[in-house]
Amino acid sequence: MAKKIVSDLDLKGKTVLVRADFNVPMKDGEITDDNRIVQALPTIKHIIKEGGKVVLFSHLGKVKEESDKESLTLAPIAKDLSSKLDQDVTFVPETRGEKLEQAIKDLNEGDVLLVQNTRFEDLDGKKESKNDPELGKYWASLGDVFVNDAFGTAHRKHASNVGIASNLETAAGFLMDKEIQYIGGVVENPDKPVVAILGGAKVSDKINVITNLLNIAEKVLIGGGMAYTFLKAQGKEIGQSLLEEDKIDFAKELLDKSGDQIVLPVDVKAASEFSNDADIQEVSVDDIPEDREALDIGPKTVELFKQQLEGAHTVVWNGPMGVFELSNFAKGTIGVCEAIAELKDANTIIGGGDSAAAASSLGYGDKFSHISTGGGASLEYLEGKDLPGIDAINDK
Ligand code: ADP
Ligand code: MG
Repeated sequence: MAKKIVSDLDLKGKTVLVRADFNVPMKDGEITDDNRIVQALPTIKHIIKEGGKVVLFSHLGKVKEESDKESLTLAPIAKDLSSKLDQDVTFVPETRGEKLEQAIKDLNEGDVLLVQNTRFEDLDGKKESKNDPELGKYWASLGDVFVNDAFGTAHRKHASNVGIASNLETAAGFLMDKEIQYIGGVVENPDKPVVAILGGAKVSDKINVITNLLNIAEKVLIGGGMAYTFLKAQGKEIGQSLLEEDKIDFAKELLDKSGDQIVLPVDVKAASEFSNDADIQEVSVDDIPEDREALDIGPKTVELFKQQLEGAHTVVWNGPMGVFELSNFAKGTIGVCEAIAELKDANTIIGGGDSAAAASSLGYGDKFSHISTGGGASLEYLEGKDLPGIDAINDK
């Protein structure tokens, strides 16, 4: 059943509670990447335009002790948001109480208010993160309707998403809806053929993603650190490359069962050390020197992956092909970005925090149909799990 969307709601004159995801990276009180704030704007602007009164909630970081409050206040977010919206944003530095209630009562149609970091409530018994029923009920009492646009926390059952939703009519924001269409679309009814590309550091992080995508995709291309456990399972020597001994059997099982679907690297960049200044040899996966570490896939593998991608109608990618943070080991990831960018008529989707960061930082941010804003949430979604934040949204 399709979920209700913010555009299905009558918002005129209503106090609209919005759970946004303003959990942005910060350094010394400055926002270092505002992508999540940018992505939240369409929903906020829509509510303003329709004459709703916007009351925003978000968490930022983890609040473990009183002293965390200073660095984890949402005050800088309010300032940034105000300049992006080109209007005042009232910031209330509290998560409950008379001052907050009065400020909400004082709002006019089209006004915007931001509530303090929801995780300030975690200092007193983890009320936010443990979905304290009283807290969700209290926050819900502050508004007429709830819009959940925080996909990044959809895999968590917190008071500010699931708690409010269980007490109030709830719709998805536009960003949440987009994530449901794209990431949910891959899992539920993708346009075939589907090719999945998996990489990243560890097999153990991605066991359920690999298993589920093997059920969905015609081909699963495996690169990144996790590829070496698979190569080892095939009996190859992988030198000092990443290996998870305890996952060799799992890799063997998958290769036995689904070997014709799985495509592994044929060549790698074998480095003398884990450093951008390392000496690099491009070698076949049959010739990885004993004292070297494979930090990227090689050019023949990029070509092979390119061929496998031809004709795909849906491509889902999770996990970089190599240590892309070091420029000498970014070529495999760039090659895959390029191959995907060149595809015509394909729905191309990235899930996973580092993969999204890699695509953006390498200059391919606008070349995909969708880059998920939720690292952990997109992974759990790709695993085929139900996300509590999405479940709690009302059906159309
Ligand atoms: P995502 O966040 O997209 O799910 P992961 O967190 O699983 O991705 O993995 C990202 C990390 O994997 C990156 O920091 C990258 O440097 C690392 N990585 C990729 N390939 C290798 C490799 N061959 N050896 C060691 N680390 C690797
Ligand atoms: Mg990661």
